[in-house]
Amino acid sequence: MSSKPEGYRTHGVHFQDVEGELNGLGMFEGGALAQHSSVRAKPDKDGYVLTEYCDSCGTQNNITIPWSEVMFLANGVTPQGFRYDMGRLVIDLPCKQCAKYELHSAVTPDEAARWAKAAIAAGVLNIGQAQAWEAQAKSIRARMGG
Ligand SMILES: [Zn+2]
Repeated sequence: MSSKPEGYRTHGVHFQDVEGELNGLGMFEGGALAQHSSVRAKPDKDGYVLTEYCDSCGTQNNITIPWSEVMFLANGVTPQGFRYDMGRLVIDLPCKQCAKYELHSAVTPDEAARWAKAAIAAGVLNIGQAQAWEAQAKSIRARMGG
């Protein structure tokens, strides 16, 4: 009854799958999410501006995270383009100079909330607008059941 060599075939297929996954993982982790001690951030009227230096060519890039996205991040909603990585939300972006994806800015929901608070206090973020985005984020979360 159990003499069919099905187990071997199955094993072969699985092995290939795992290999494919590992390759994919290696590709994503190639950039290494190093701690960027050189990253600086400041609020602007359009959003929170992160200054980051390219790991490949060293060019300074300014990355603006729009306030709508900051409010989403602060309220536990992941905007498009961000990926979740060990409690942080990471955006992988190409360098404006060499176009390599060597920019890996990251933010935690707590940081985003602090950014928003500071921006409202500084008068660069309109509180009514911020509350509208917050409400939007909360309704998205409610719809996702979380
Ligand atoms: Zn570069």
